Amino acid sequence: MKFNTKTIHGGQENTDPAYGSVMPPIYQTSTYSQSTPGGHKGYEYSRSANPTRTALEKSLASLENGIYGLAFGSGLAAIDAVLKLFKPGDEIISTNDLYGGSYRLFTRIFDGLGIKFRFVGMQEAGNIEKHINENTRLIWVETPTNPMMNIIDIAEVSSIAKKHELLLAVDNTFATPYLQQALDLGADIIMHSATKYLGGHSDVVMGGLVVNDKELADKLYFIQNASGAICGPMDSFLVLRGIKTLHLRMQRHCENGAAVARYLGSHPKVDKVYWPGFEDHPNHQIAKKQMKDFGGMISFTTKEDSLDGARKILENLKIFTLAESLGGVESLAGHPATMTHASIPAEERKKTGIVDSLIRLSVGVEDEEDLINDLKQAIQ
Ligand SMILES: *Cc1c(COP(=O)(O)O)cnc(C)c1O
Repeated sequence: MKFNTKTIHGGQENTDPAYGSVMPPIYQTSTYSQSTPGGHKGYEYSRSANPTRTALEKSLASLENGIYGLAFGSGLAAIDAVLKLFKPGDEIISTNDLYGGSYRLFTRIFDGLGIKFRFVGMQEAGNIEKHINENTRLIWVETPTNPMMNIIDIAEVSSIAKKHELLLAVDNTFATPYLQQALDLGADIIMHSATKYLGGHSDVVMGGLVVNDKELADKLYFIQNASGAICGPMDSFLVLRGIKTLHLRMQRHCENGAAVARYLGSHPKVDKVYWPGFEDHPNHQIAKKQMKDFGGMISFTTKEDSLDGARKILENLKIFTLAESLGGVESLAGHPATMTHASIPAEERKKTGIVDSLIRLSVGVEDEEDLINDLKQAIQ
């Protein structure tokens, strides 16, 4: 099955044995009747498993060319489950330019429980090796990075991980499996904030994991059930419904993203535009190699580099909504320094380029001309 068919049918055989409904029913139930103690039809209690969630988990696995999918109540709950694979003394090497909430979870919760994190720039994958020691267990990669749109070579990081017998996890939220198939590139764990492109309609918060290894899947399933950070059947249904148009939406996100990036790149008041589709983007060749297209996420700065200038642009936008999050059908604009990345200390922020005038756009699927005109009037 090709990707565009998988979004609609992947893992969805026989989801309603009772009546053959085309969409899986929303099994809004916490428990399941048993004919005799232990005599059930595969479902006992909805923390452990729920048929609507199972349908979604199979879809997620299929999209990522993986075998096992697990869905959680949020992207961070999914990351939390991955981190619970480790114990005090273990070390994790993470991308230095990453989602603010992931950074907060790493440094404010798991660091206190004895897991050590090293934040490393990974555009030169060779940088990673000098941070590896006998306690290192996992490499955590986010690519494209948020909000600087750096691209990390997953295949190259994977060969380092394999050489040192480390796990490699990739946060595939920005790229989605439409653009990037990270298990095929050598990752062991794919993580998603399904809140973003997979759900695609800004109406649900959810997370997901996909793996190929049975033993790893069993451990993660144990954590999912034992810690209990699952998502409900209604949310599972909504994300399944979103996934059915993922390929169509992503195609338009990429087209509109390219048009907006080129417009901003030619604007006299705009300073830098961060979008991996530009030939002079420092990681353009890697992006071309590992991604099908360049996505709808763009960051830019203005020549008048001030918080006030950024604030004015954001307040004047009419079609772009000033809001946290990304990946929905509607275009959003955000201010990383005061919004998504406010939990990262100012010093760390500056080091990775998150200056006060940086604006991040999640380009939606509206009309391209309307989006460009909106940016034009707001920057003016
Ligand atoms: C939003 C996001 C997360 C966290 O996901 P939630 O669903 O908000 O918990 C993690 N990584 C990236 C790249 C994100 O954009």
